[in-house]
Amino acid sequence: MQSITVLGATGSIGDSTLDVIARNPDRFRVFALSGRERIDRLASLCLRFRPKYAAVPGAVEAASLQAMLRVSGCRVEVIDGPEALAQVAAHPEVDTVVAAIVGAAGLEATIAAARAGKRILLANKEALVMAGPVFVQACRESGATVLPIDSEHNAIFQCLPPGAGIGAGALDGSGVRRILLTASGGPFRSWTLEQMRAATPEQACAHPNWSMGRKISVDSATMMNKGLELIEAQLLFGVAQADIEIVVHPQSVIHSLVEYLDGSVLAQLGHPDMRTPIAHALGHPARIASGVSVLDLASIARLDFEAPDPLRFPCLRLAREALRDGPAAVCALNASNEIAVDAFLRGRIGFCEIAQLSDAVLQDFGSHPAPRDVNDVLALDAKARTLAADRILRTVA
Ligand code: NDP
Ligand code: MG
Repeated sequence: MQSITVLGATGSIGDSTLDVIARNPDRFRVFALSGRERIDRLASLCLRFRPKYAAVPGAVEAASLQAMLRVSGCRVEVIDGPEALAQVAAHPEVDTVVAAIVGAAGLEATIAAARAGKRILLANKEALVMAGPVFVQACRESGATVLPIDSEHNAIFQCLPPGAGIGAGALDGSGVRRILLTASGGPFRSWTLEQMRAATPEQACAHPNWSMGRKISVDSATMMNKGLELIEAQLLFGVAQADIEIVVHPQSVIHSLVEYLDGSVLAQLGHPDMRTPIAHALGHPARIASGVSVLDLASIARLDFEAPDPLRFPCLRLAREALRDGPAAVCALNASNEIAVDAFLRGRIGFCEIAQLSDAVLQDFGSHPAPRDVNDVLALDAKARTLAADRILRTVA
């Protein structure tokens, strides 16, 4: 029986994770759940899964959750405050932590899980991207295992030889030549630049294949998601960025591929449903039921591929440049993108300004040594956020 903490339980990944857990009650026990704003949703999850703890940001949310649970006679210990997430992530009774908070907000709890040597099911790619070597080092020192649930990285993991670790040198001697990272191309794959300039948040969040939270949906529309995933793949599998190719595959049936020295290319296929990679990681090395229906290849009929367009999707170049410039630039890129996406969702900047803003922040950021610890990461993140916010203020003024 695995004891599981789900960080970000009220979100899209949290929802898919709890669906898989509910299908396998003999294997998994929910130890803790966390949420931020959707407290009524968190309350109904507490009633259904009866965790030991529920973690929320502050006293107001805690009081509201407690009130909802009290009327149902549900005894869940509600904790709040800056340490609450790390507490439920690193608790000695926990085996597995599903890191499904969106953005840099998930960093400290995910690092706490890494330091405590947990089995980490990683959806929160921003935490890995921003902290890069600090994250990988924390896992190495404690013996924490990272199982990717981002669908592409989970696919790559499934196509690699068993036992591959994480970080530099993870694939040495494995015979891997290249990684082919697939991208759906997002909702604007065939839009003109002119149409993209006028794109609204609702259009950007209407992904053709996946149902996801708003931040990652916008990242998919700009293709910054693929840029972040390129960095995620480089960090997880220790492959040189030149050996990772991005290929647009609009059907999202092949979730990524691994090419070997002998010319063999292995792919993982499945419906675009996050329950498959989540079930793979939850059950690993066993295979467990996910609720995903069979893949009817005849009805899918065809699988298409094309190269990404660098002119309409400059975020791919930004990610490659940041990776070349090192972990501080990568951290800055993630931070400025979070600020830019938030500003776009609030109607303060246009869609194409998301990439422009990150480009400008990377120019202004200057060079910095690689972060050595979480405080260094947070300082770099804060500097890039300030630069991005200042630029938005000047643009809007
Ligand atoms: P959602 O927006 O649906 O959910 C985000 C979760 O994080 C919610 O539980 C939310 O709480 C919580 N949260 C948000 N901000 C904070 C904060 N400041 N402090 C604490 N908790 C917070 O996002 P997704 O589930 O779509 O994505 C989660 C992560 O998984 C992202 O990093 C994303 O890139 C990654 N991912 C998602 C995929 C998908 O299909 N959705 C696919 C691959 C990766 P509340 O809602 O209660 O406010
Ligand atoms: Mg993905």
